[in-house]
Amino acid sequence: MSTRIPESVYKWLINAQFALFPGTCIHCRQPSYQHSDLCDSCRLALPRVKNPCTVCGQPLPTDNVAVSRCGTCLVLPPGYCRSVIPFQYHPPVSALIAGFKYRHKLTGGRVLSEQLACHIARQYQDYPLPSMVIPIPLHNARIRQRGYNQALEIARTLSRYLDITISRGIVCRTRNTTRQTGLSARERQRNLRSAFAIVGDFHFAANTSVAVVDDVVTTGATVSELARVLLKAGASEVHVWAIARTVA
Ligand SMILES: [Zn+2]
Ligand SMILES: [Zn+2]
Repeated sequence: MSTRIPESVYKWLINAQFALFPGTCIHCRQPSYQHSDLCDSCRLALPRVKNPCTVCGQPLPTDNVAVSRCGTCLVLPPGYCRSVIPFQYHPPVSALIAGFKYRHKLTGGRVLSEQLACHIARQYQDYPLPSMVIPIPLHNARIRQRGYNQALEIARTLSRYLDITISRGIVCRTRNTTRQTGLSARERQRNLRSAFAIVGDFHFAANTSVAVVDDVVTTGATVSELARVLLKAGASEVHVWAIARTVA
């Protein structure tokens, strides 16, 4: 069983840490002058997704506030019902994520995860948070190669900031799917078929909504496939939380 540091103690530790060692911006390397390793001007310059579809997170082609879903999600809704993804997968976010994912630069991942946590808190002001977060599982071979699952690292930060439970061991990756980079949407879907499986005979309790957590959403094929598996196991709703997405 994991032990959790009480939230008040955790916040005190963070404040004490930044009082002793002022933050250094991960992007411009200047002192951040605040309780974060990201300075205000770099934070404001990060490429945000403007006016996203509430379901898939792609920018909507209209500024009309009455429109909340894109044409694709209206015609063919994916299994998940909501996406909360603050950033476009453009520099410097793309470089920070690549460093986090492939070169063990965990500070960049933590700082972006903190930004994601703030964004989620704002998006759910009038809406209950899901019951749990599920990091997209990596195949064991990939974890051995990388040393960690980046989605779990993001989920840890979200859990701490949003006080939400991380659920592990419910679903696993059954196949070490080839890298998705460079594949078309159809090839990605084929590549992911039966890539995830529920462990044992697990079934969600009634009214359990879940948020799946990933670093980047590209075509949405991975989160769609995981959502399908989780809904089949009784999840009431699947939300998608990610740092960035590629935009059309
Ligand atoms: Zn900066
Ligand atoms: Zn959409």
